[in-house]
Amino acid sequence: MAPVILQGVSKVYANGVKAVDCVSLSIADGEFVVLVGPSGCGKSTTLRMIAGLEEISSGSLIVGETRMNDVPARRRNMAMVFQNYALYPHLDVRRNMAFGLERRRSHGSLLKALLNSTYRDKRTAERKAIDARVSAAAATLGIESLLHRKPRELSGGQRQRVAVGRALVRDPVAFLFDEPLSNLDAKLRGEMRTELRLLHQRLRATMVYVTHDQEEAMSLADRLVVMKDGVVQQVGTPTQVYGRPANRFVAGFVGTPTMNFINGTIEAGGVFRWSAGTLQLPQARWVGLSGWQGKPLELGVRPDQIRVGTGSSRGRVIAVENYGDRMDVVIESGGLRLTSRSPTAPLREGTESSFELLLESAHLFDPAAAGNSLPHLSPTSTA
Ligand code: ADP
Repeated sequence: MAPVILQGVSKVYANGVKAVDCVSLSIADGEFVVLVGPSGCGKSTTLRMIAGLEEISSGSLIVGETRMNDVPARRRNMAMVFQNYALYPHLDVRRNMAFGLERRRSHGSLLKALLNSTYRDKRTAERKAIDARVSAAAATLGIESLLHRKPRELSGGQRQRVAVGRALVRDPVAFLFDEPLSNLDAKLRGEMRTELRLLHQRLRATMVYVTHDQEEAMSLADRLVVMKDGVVQQVGTPTQVYGRPANRFVAGFVGTPTMNFINGTIEAGGVFRWSAGTLQLPQARWVGLSGWQGKPLELGVRPDQIRVGTGSSRGRVIAVENYGDRMDVVIESGGLRLTSRSPTAPLREGTESSFELLLESAHLFDPAAAGNSLPHLSPTSTA
């Protein structure tokens, strides 16, 4: 295993699309890093450049100590797991898993093999070693009983395990996953996430994982790389990205339900005026808040920081979503729709209700500076 380092890596496709724009990233040996962002933000292109499946337009890719830009994919020893599994339908699971290794092995001369008994012995030993590796990987993934089945005789989850198994047998410098769980149903996806985390704990391998699903990203990552329009927006642990989003885009992208955003203006004494009234901001939370007086800003409040049935703000309950263990209540106030998440909400749709915005962990964003977060003063856990 080895660290993977991207230095100002960009990709411009032949049609002129700049898919990846100067990405710099250092992935530590044994780290699980997830590239996450909306469709088309350049995640797959970044991963494919690491794999060697896409040429790097500018910048450097370093693996271990070696610059890899011009090293062909087959020499990079990266194992890639794709969304569509890419299994060979005519081969059984064992042969599918062994395929990459056998292909590498078969580069020797066939004639030499036929003429030379020492060489034949060596090939027999190699075959045995491959069999042992396939069996070990199958045991790790709990698919020993499937080794003689063809892909069409497997469920989606089992096929996905085989695809991971094929990566596992290769003992690569890094595992690269491109939306590997997208074709599975929600429940199975959840189970596979846990299995991938366990696999990572066991192997301590460098893993780079691409997904558009922020929940999946949060659940898997040691560190997240949030991307938009080919540009890295923030790199950090799930706690850092959730607790201290670098800008409005990251704040809105991470977290379910989405953060509430309220446009308004700062007045004297840290008062925030919005369409439904005023709110007293905890001034100690931000650096130099008074300097923003008179300027339009956007306040961000997570749904679990809005309490309904209490407080001095008023609104109309337009939807109550009951998840059994919690309620999401959508309130309309001042022309905005705000979502509150709370354990209980004895409210009916169509009624008026009081509500309260808890602002101790609120965020402020500057629309004039690409939605950048105003720097926080008060400590938030950065673990
Ligand atoms: P993501 O994985 O985040 O969905 P991609 O890396 O696949 O995004 O694509 C990033 C951008 O590059 C998109 O605008 C996409 O249309 C474009 N793109 C991807 N592959 C190609 C290609 N082979 N040729 C031209 N443009 C491409």
